[in-house]
Amino acid sequence: MGAVYFERHRLSRHHLPSLCLRCGEPAAFVREKTFSTPQEWTTILFFLGGLPYLLGRLVFRDRIRVPVPLCERHRNHFRWQAGILWAVSRPWRRCSPAASP
Ligand SMILES: [Zn+2]
Repeated sequence: MGAVYFERHRLSRHHLPSLCLRCGEPAAFVREKTFSTPQEWTTILFFLGGLPYLLGRLVFRDRIRVPVPLCERHRNHFRWQAGILWAVSRPWRRCSPAASP
């Protein structure tokens, strides 16, 4: 599998080619997707232990919202990820004060 790198300013100006991100076929849809990566300084948290390291890597992230071109076949490419996040966050939502009657 190949990798494609884009400069951040090109992504924010919608300069992606109209080709499917997954297979390279002509794109039929554009989905907004947020990509993130942990900030580099959070590797220092490794020396504080596993939990601070994991929490730091989850909380302190660089995020960018990108319009991703997708073809008809891969239009739901990111949907399984959203389903997993929804399922994992469900117990947390039940415990939140806003969820209680
Ligand atoms: Zn495709």
